[in-house]
Amino acid sequence: MNPRICDCNYCQANPSRIISDPNMSVVFIGDGILTKQNGDQLANFYHCKACNELLAVGCNINGRLRGAVNSNLMQDVNQLGNPIQIQPRLLSAAEKLERWDKLWGVLNGF
Ligand SMILES: [Zn+2]
Repeated sequence: MNPRICDCNYCQANPSRIISDPNMSVVFIGDGILTKQNGDQLANFYHCKACNELLAVGCNINGRLRGAVNSNLMQDVNQLGNPIQIQPRLLSAAEKLERWDKLWGVLNGF
């Protein structure tokens, strides 16, 4: 599994290495999440209210909240593969949704 580093302005300002698997199901516990959006408003960025760290990025696709999580917060991050640079800003909205539908897991608890 290779974390992905996005080169958009939002991710440059909020550095993260996101990781996901289509079979992944993530549960966030607690009520301290801030939701923010980037330029094209397509994806939501979920931040911890206490420390402002980016927890996950997500988007509602076909009625389910799908997303990827920030691997920088994981304990065993050094067991992941080398980070890959990605440029989703070069994709159309339809292309992004198609890509996320293939790559992203399910987010629960938001
Ligand atoms: Zn980005």
